[in-house]
Amino acid sequence: MSEEEKTVEYKLATTAIHAGEVHDPLGSHINPIYQTSTFVHEDFEAIESWRRGEREAYTYSRGDNPTREVLAQKIAALEAYGMENADAVSAMIFSSGMGAISAAILGIVSAGDHIITQQVLYGSCDHLFTEQLPNYNITISRIRGLEAEALEAELAKYPNTKIVYLESPANPSMTIIDIEETAHIAHAHGAKLVVDNTFASPILQQPLALGADVVVHSTTKFINGHGTVIGGAVVSADAEYMENGPGKKLRFMGGAVPSAFDCWLTNIGLKTLPLRMRQHCINARVVAEFLDGHAKVDQTYWPGLPSHPKHDVAARQMSDFGAMISIDLGSYAAAGRFMSGLSLCSLAVSLGNVDTLVQHPASMTHRMLSDEGRTASGITPGLVRLSIGIEDADDIVADLRNALTNI
Ligand SMILES: *Cc1c(COP(=O)(O)O)cnc(C)c1O
Repeated sequence: MSEEEKTVEYKLATTAIHAGEVHDPLGSHINPIYQTSTFVHEDFEAIESWRRGEREAYTYSRGDNPTREVLAQKIAALEAYGMENADAVSAMIFSSGMGAISAAILGIVSAGDHIITQQVLYGSCDHLFTEQLPNYNITISRIRGLEAEALEAELAKYPNTKIVYLESPANPSMTIIDIEETAHIAHAHGAKLVVDNTFASPILQQPLALGADVVVHSTTKFINGHGTVIGGAVVSADAEYMENGPGKKLRFMGGAVPSAFDCWLTNIGLKTLPLRMRQHCINARVVAEFLDGHAKVDQTYWPGLPSHPKHDVAARQMSDFGAMISIDLGSYAAAGRFMSGLSLCSLAVSLGNVDTLVQHPASMTHRMLSDEGRTASGITPGLVRLSIGIEDADDIVADLRNALTNI
């Protein structure tokens, strides 16, 4: 491509709206939903030229689908935003975040390999690591916050480590891990860094630019934003990995592919992600400051509060602090009374929707962990997690204030 032909580099909000979009030959403004399992070849010569690799063609929707491709390109463009090798970044779309995470991991490790991760993880990911992967002789060890020195020591102890896996921010204390530093350490020991970027979204944090090798997402959350679809994505600048790892092999054979309609809905949601994240963050600040000063709240965990132990790291690697807040209300009973007193906020797992969702990890998302596992992960009986929506912040605060009076 000559210099003149180079596409203009748009800013983030423009990228979210325009990246990947194609106008249908019939003139449809919004990209169509290709709700089809298979694709027709014109004639036998068309099949032959496709087989010889002279022509690209859609063949079967478990492999590729044009509606899915639009979403893949948009997510890749956002994760690659501002990177020098942005063109090398591609994304694979899955039918759930867990589908994406499983494929991303199994695309790197095989029997006899080791993974090092932090103590606290998204619940299903925790189960995948501790219950499923050991069945395939893939071992796991954990370091509370992946602190540099302890990570170095663990990598020296397990030279068969292929992945360092992190979530930042992570449940429930909104643990922040330094992505750039962790990438340096992992690479020095020949391991890849895989980052779950679900809580921040590519609008607030771009792990590939910070040195991560692979980014995974539950697109169910902020990326879709409207709570209509379960979905996931794997993003990487490593073409070889995307071709032979989760991409061409594990997604096709594993089969965790979403429908065209699900991709279409997620793509529509993603267009407003920059705008939504801005309001999510503004509202979260108002709510976090209200909760932090409240007499009935023992602890407020939000990376934007100067009291957060990794506030400076969050300020360095994120453009804003996100919409996830946890509070400790001191006891299981107090958490229950608080939850029962809410009326605007919905009591529901999941996060990143336009409306505020509140959940109690000990009885909901992390109920299946062992008691020791919960304690080690800082999931106290009184902990409540809030995903702050984009309603008027005054209304959210009023609902929380009301629920706190009765606990
Ligand atoms: C929801 C979530 C997942 C799993 O995604 P699903 O779409 O539910 O499969 C993984 N990681 C994080 C941080 C999540 O919030």
